Amino acid sequence: MKIASVEVVPVRLPHYKAASDSLGTYSFSNHGIVIIRTESGLYGAGEIALAWFGGAHSICREVNEFWADQLIGQEVTDIAAISKKLDELSDFSKRHLLAKAGIETALYDLIGKMTQLPVYQLLGGKSRTRIPITGAIHIDSLDMMVETAKQRVSEGFKELKIKVGLDDEKDLKAIRQIRNAIPDPVLLRVDANMAWRTKKQAKKLIDEMFAFGVHIVEQPLRDDCLDELSWLRDNTEALILLDESVWDICDAKRCLEKGAADLLHVYVSEAGGLNGARKIFELAELYNIDCTLGSMPEARIGSSASAQLGIAMGNLSAFASDVRGFTAYREDVVHEELIIADGYLTIPDTPGLGVTIDFEKLKKLAVQ
Ligand SMILES: [Mg+2]
Repeated sequence: MKIASVEVVPVRLPHYKAASDSLGTYSFSNHGIVIIRTESGLYGAGEIALAWFGGAHSICREVNEFWADQLIGQEVTDIAAISKKLDELSDFSKRHLLAKAGIETALYDLIGKMTQLPVYQLLGGKSRTRIPITGAIHIDSLDMMVETAKQRVSEGFKELKIKVGLDDEKDLKAIRQIRNAIPDPVLLRVDANMAWRTKKQAKKLIDEMFAFGVHIVEQPLRDDCLDELSWLRDNTEALILLDESVWDICDAKRCLEKGAADLLHVYVSEAGGLNGARKIFELAELYNIDCTLGSMPEARIGSSASAQLGIAMGNLSAFASDVRGFTAYREDVVHEELIIADGYLTIPDTPGLGVTIDFEKLKKLAVQ
């Protein structure tokens, strides 16, 4: 079946509540919803998600203007050939990996619907039935962070991820108070989002945090400080999880060769799609490294794509992933709910991504 049309609809998705990390505060997300149709009228859905620089709307425009026509007439199932073409169009631009991911996801959704198979079956089949998810704690007042931690534990999350990096003393206080307020078996992770300036500062903070039970430290230093990250990995007790350092397979290769990571945080978006993300998992496996899944935060279409990958990948870490971006949004463009219960995300066995577009809602959330 051939591609008849490719359209990206720019949408603005409102958050329930503004969320802060060391890079900024977010009250809405500007994403793009990719719709690829065949001549029979069947469609596949993808999402272009970008947290920074005002979101993905400029990328949506570029795809509609410069990419869409080039895809029309191609066989839907020729993912490798289409991927190669998109790689040529994405040369020198990490931003366009996000566009490639949105398009490739829509193709997988379409192929799933055509074959009546869930996408994880197209990626190698089921390695697990559910994905452990982190409970999120954003930067806020100390009282609010402790309250949120208790709330997340009561919701069933087994692992909490605390954003840090704006105020070292306050971060340490927050971790101490959270640790004292929740049961011991609940694991703590921090995400500095590159905020710490030197390996000396990072080591001091990691050592103190480890004493309060922080077992994973996500992206303590800037993305390109691989020598320093490798040193931290060798000289601290916590596991080093790299996020901003890893977009695509080339980044992952550099991190793995440098021995800079205990775990890699993989995004379908940043890797240029499901195949790009799968390649990172497979490369990491050669180094005996497990991966977790990140969140841009994608809404339900993008989150479903990440979840489908997570169900399939053998070396998805037993430590929790972040496939919970969709929980941030007050409104979304699909009919189906995604459910996190007792700290785990499960997805349906329905064809494709398992979500279908609510075109009324899409119209409502679309922006010019
Ligand atoms: Mg992160």
